[in-house]
Amino acid sequence: MEIKINFSPRRIKTINARMIGDIMYVNAPAGMPQEQLQKIIDRFKKRFEKRKLVQELNKTPEILKEETNRLNNQYFSGRLEISSIEYSPNQDRIFGSCNHRTKTIRISYRLKKMPDWVRNYVIVHELAHLVEPNHSESFWNIVNRYPLSERARGYLIAKGFESNESEKDVEN
Ligand SMILES: [Zn+2]
Repeated sequence: MEIKINFSPRRIKTINARMIGDIMYVNAPAGMPQEQLQKIIDRFKKRFEKRKLVQELNKTPEILKEETNRLNNQYFSGRLEISSIEYSPNQDRIFGSCNHRTKTIRISYRLKKMPDWVRNYVIVHELAHLVEPNHSESFWNIVNRYPLSERARGYLIAKGFESNESEKDVEN
């Protein structure tokens, strides 16, 4: 990614950045310490890269949708209704979320780089929330129909995902 920095002579206090094509244009206050500037630019860079990644991921939503339909057929006799499933750019620690009411599922963008069996566990987990919103015993009985669920849980924890999506959030 190419970066062009424009130092503003005016008394601006904050940095802003935008992407035009593959070039990131940064407006920074003149006289900002290099180290501080670099830190902020790195953060912008990460954010833009993530946004781009998610746009790429969600360019072909039918792939995720197909996989989800297959898992629905295999583990739920195809009974579940799903309005949408997509990758979320904001889920760094939470592997997925399911809105029981709107029947929409979002899964962490990080799963794209993980093995399919891990991603499929997350899909099964979120699908199970369409049946059981809470992490109840019957919920886990459903999830455990997926043979690799125990192993996938360990994998996700090792990658820094929360072991148990917080109970406080109904969308988990
Ligand atoms: Zn859950």
